Amino acid sequence: MTPKTHTLHTAPLKNNCPTCFATDGLEITFTQNEKETPFFKKPATAIKHTLYCHTCKNSIYPINWTEDIERVFDYNKKIAETHKQYLKVKPLFYISVAAAIIVVAAVVYVLIPF
Ligand SMILES: [Zn+2]
Repeated sequence: MTPKTHTLHTAPLKNNCPTCFATDGLEITFTQNEKETPFFKKPATAIKHTLYCHTCKNSIYPINWTEDIERVFDYNKKIAETHKQYLKVKPLFYISVAAAIIVVAAVVYVLIPF
């Protein structure tokens, strides 16, 4: 199964880029991976984030963030959290649960002598 990536939230930042100092190039993206099985979609608990500068075409790593970037990051992270994906059970899951109950019932019926 290949994990899917959901983009939860993207926002352009007005902050100075720590690399090229442009104020209109930064963009923060929050993503969440999701593993899909035939039974359910299981999103990762952690949200990943990337800060990218479109002006100098660089990824800005947290080590280079300024205090202002961190503040805006925290604010946007809260928005991203509200878009977070949770475990989704597919119909096949219920069908197999129902099938399992029928099998158990059948086995019990056969095994218990009257
Ligand atoms: Zn830049």
